[in-house]
Amino acid sequence: MTSNRRFHIAVMPGDGIGPEVIDAALAVLGAATGDGAGFALDFEHLAAGAGAWRDTGTAMSEQTFERAKAADAILLGAMGLPDVRYPDGTEIAPQLDLRFRLGLYAGVRPVRALPGGARPLADPRGADIDLVIVRESTEGLFASRGKGVVEDDRVARDTMVITRETCERLFDASFHLARRRRARGGRGRVTCVDKSNVFASMAFFRRIFDECAARHPDIEAAHHYVDAAALDLVRKPWEFDVMVTENMFGDILSDLTAALVGGMGMAPSADIGDGHGVFQPAHGSAPDIAGRGIANPLAAIQTAAMMLDWLAERHGVEACAEAGRRIDAAVAAVLAAGSPRPADLGGTDGTETVARAVIAAL
Ligand code: ATP
Repeated sequence: MTSNRRFHIAVMPGDGIGPEVIDAALAVLGAATGDGAGFALDFEHLAAGAGAWRDTGTAMSEQTFERAKAADAILLGAMGLPDVRYPDGTEIAPQLDLRFRLGLYAGVRPVRALPGGARPLADPRGADIDLVIVRESTEGLFASRGKGVVEDDRVARDTMVITRETCERLFDASFHLARRRRARGGRGRVTCVDKSNVFASMAFFRRIFDECAARHPDIEAAHHYVDAAALDLVRKPWEFDVMVTENMFGDILSDLTAALVGGMGMAPSADIGDGHGVFQPAHGSAPDIAGRGIANPLAAIQTAAMMLDWLAERHGVEACAEAGRRIDAAVAAVLAAGSPRPADLGGTDGTETVARAVIAAL
């Protein structure tokens, strides 16, 4: 088959290990989309992040933003460096601006235990962890970013914002995701994670969830308070399917769940809205290991596979979904083989070696 659909991908490698893991992901994408793949990817590299701010005085120029906005998808490494900050002391995080400006309300963070991967917890009956955290990413407590106040050095206030419009889209997307996962063997359940027993905002969040659940009767709807969810994610994580939650809760719980399958180097992530998708591993720029060639590229590689799956669904290009599945299978095969093995999973192999093994497995 010839390449009959071309996708324009904006690539923002960013800071720290961002460029290292993005190089690996691009190499794997290149191998998975060669001649005969049925589609093609055109990459456009764009500078943004703390390094861009240091070099140019702008973390993400308007021109860069417009180029990214015009792309079919955005692939991002990591942004921010602890020693490069705005004059007010806050971190340079243009990736958060992308979420707000492009309306990327659903932060999708899959957590899958793979044979040969790290498993600090195990179900005695052998069930595997295979869940997704859907983190609302444009409001919640993060709506207060840049707007919090400290009064007279005596009291500080940040405000949680929950809107009906965003919740309805978030919950509909979560039920849709559970339905797609069920077609591939998932449980077909969405759990709303909130604190509705204490906060009016969270009771509102749950009420809208229940209204949406009534529109998706084929998918099971469940509830969990966030504190109990933290407990059960350690006690029995294999019982969850899709978990949808407020921004701050999702921020915390998704790091917890990454630890269940080997840490940040194993945690892919996507920020999805109605018109755009930004695909970025859940980890940050990891300055403690940057420049040493030892970052685990598997989160970025699995993130690239998520991008292909999203493009496939959005544009009806099945070959693209197939390429994503092949990448996921290649990652699983490398882990199962036990060698090479990235340093954060107890091995000694570097970023490039691991990426080359994934390409060989393709
Ligand atoms: P952010 O606030 O941007 O999410 P952070 O400072 O909280 O970033 P990370 O940059 O994700 O956190 O790093 C957390 C820890 O995980 C660090 O010790 C880092 O070295 C490690 N880490 C993160 N990503 C990887 C990776 N791909 N491979 C190996 N180790 C990683």
